[in-house]
Amino acid sequence: MKRALITGIAGQDGAYLSQLLLGKGYEVFGLVRRSAADAGYERLHWLGIADRVQFVDGDLLDLSTLIRAVEDARPDEVYNLGAQSLVKISWNQPIATAGATGVGALNMLEAVRTRAPGARFYQASSSEMFGRAQVPVQNELTPFHPRSPYAVAKAFAHWMTINYRESFGMHASSGILFNHESPLRSIEFVTRKITDGVARIKLGLSRKLVLGNLDAKRDWGHARDHVRAMWQMLQQPAADDYVIATGRTASVREFCALAFAEVGLEASDHIEVDPALFRPAEVEALRGDATKARTVLGWEPTVTLPALVAEMVATDLERLGRPPVRPG
Ligand code: GDP
Repeated sequence: MKRALITGIAGQDGAYLSQLLLGKGYEVFGLVRRSAADAGYERLHWLGIADRVQFVDGDLLDLSTLIRAVEDARPDEVYNLGAQSLVKISWNQPIATAGATGVGALNMLEAVRTRAPGARFYQASSSEMFGRAQVPVQNELTPFHPRSPYAVAKAFAHWMTINYRESFGMHASSGILFNHESPLRSIEFVTRKITDGVARIKLGLSRKLVLGNLDAKRDWGHARDHVRAMWQMLQQPAADDYVIATGRTASVREFCALAFAEVGLEASDHIEVDPALFRPAEVEALRGDATKARTVLGWEPTVTLPALVAEMVATDLERLGRPPVRPG
């Protein structure tokens, strides 16, 4: 039975990746930073797998805890998904972001290098590293121009992963994942904010949806498709870096139109733009070319954008439409 250690297990990707690995017979260990503000792992509960994951205590900023976690879990595969992953927040917390998102990855690489050198390592890199991209479609050879403290921290972690592969011969791969969404996406991201807002408006719980830049374009895939690529990367004989993307792009405005159409409403009747939600530096458009992943890994996205939007809106309608649970 293979053993996997996942950081960021309480997040969207951690939940879907756990589900995938449990389905393949892995023993799954999740690094958790226990605190009074614990999220309660509701995503793992939602997928019905919370009692099948073994939690190990640790903090990406504390190497001693990572060493202990690696010693306890004795992983064959390590997936570093933990990060401060909110782009807008990263301007308010640049140093904390550099810590968790950048140095955190380096700490994990150190823990694996010293305590489980034979383990395979996955780093969750991000299309945000392309930032103000020089070319309309980005692949593994496209230069980075990160546009936020988050993206700069991810670029550091990406290059550290490559450096550990080249310096120590570690089987360390980096997946440059374009945006990937699902009903488990947190409300801070625009897609889930939209589908939650649409459901609220439809159910009469709210009248409008306040957003920032509607013209930003993203290559939105489904998280379940994208986490499959993480696992596929670690099954290769040699470690490498891969862009994971659908190759199609839509604007925030187009995403809104699809989501409101799901419930028979017109987006323009309900959206308000608040300049306070604009970012100090914006990534205007991203579109990925996953040819390498298709060719080498045999990876393909399976969910269309309309299907993704429909699933997210339906789930939010269901969540919000549920009668409130009365205590006692
Ligand atoms: P990101 O690509 O990782 O930054 O993912 P987000 O979902 O947070 O943002 C995607 C795009 O949506 C960015 O270009 C944002 O500027 C834009 N956007 C517009 N309105 C909003 C909003 O209200 N919240 C968020 N999070 N993003 C918004």
